Amino acid sequence: MKISIVIPSFNEEDNIALLFEKIKTILQKEDYECIFVDDGSRDATFENIRKIAAENKQVKGISFSRNFGHQTALLAGLTEADGDVVIMMDADGQHPPEVIPELLNQYQKGFEIVNTRRLSTGDAGAAKNLSSKGYYKFVNLLTDIKIEPASSDFRLMTRKAVDAFLQIDEKDRFTRGLISWMGFKQTIVEFTAPPRMTGVSKYTFKKMLTFAWDGITSFSSKPLKFSLYAGIFALLFGGIYSIYILIIFIMGKTIPGWASMMLVILLLGGIQLLSLGIIGEYLSRIFNEAKNRPHYFIQDRC
Ligand code: UDP
Ligand code: MG
Repeated sequence: MKISIVIPSFNEEDNIALLFEKIKTILQKEDYECIFVDDGSRDATFENIRKIAAENKQVKGISFSRNFGHQTALLAGLTEADGDVVIMMDADGQHPPEVIPELLNQYQKGFEIVNTRRLSTGDAGAAKNLSSKGYYKFVNLLTDIKIEPASSDFRLMTRKAVDAFLQIDEKDRFTRGLISWMGFKQTIVEFTAPPRMTGVSKYTFKKMLTFAWDGITSFSSKPLKFSLYAGIFALLFGGIYSIYILIIFIMGKTIPGWASMMLVILLLGGIQLLSLGIIGEYLSRIFNEAKNRPHYFIQDRC
């Protein structure tokens, strides 16, 4: 049985060798390959991958022509992997290789996908933990898929599951959601996330927001329905208000009416803008899919 390890790496020059040493010790008795996907790093990440690839035949590297993002790097790694089981994990050591034997253990028990759940997020502050918890509650409320809070992109998949995953051609990929949507026999292993080995988080606030937004809009049409409900509500409210205005007009008690007019304009204007925004969001997704561009370009291999 061959094990493929897929590791998206963005500006992780000092972590590559550290992580590989750990993996090497843990998997020394196994047939395995380590695929580092350099997601357009601006530091020496790919040079370092090349170095360890020259010394270890288990190591392969691909490097993107630019930064395409963590989720796309995962896709590229899974595409390259040819193991019977594939494990994806972060390059920064926050997904401890010590957990790999337990993932393999669950695989032996017959699970096609072994997900993981973080027990505590080493160096992430209380704010990140709390917002992540709240976020998954929100996603589960809004969408038809179920994602465990504190789940991470550290998981094992069998060849069957990987081949199924690769059939999904969606562009704005939210791997966690897609995995949940896929089905198959799945289970969860818990682990304690240590702090990053070196460097700082590569998920900037902007990347995190995009990621969160992708999770919701890829799996739910409820925001679209929300604009419909808001529209109906505005219409009802507007109707009732018009009757009231008509009555006081007939009774000859019309007031200057500036305030009420402003209220209606503001309310309707707000709802219209909101609805347009939501429609625009889905339209942009259709646009993105319709262009049908490749997910990524590979610049180099080793
Ligand atoms: N990553 C990536 N491309 C990006 C951002 C991150 O490949 O644009 C990788 C990163 O190198 C790491 C993993 O995704 O291996 C998770 O990122 P990070 O550890 O920075 O996120 P955090 O643990 O802070 O959520
Ligand atoms: Mg990390």
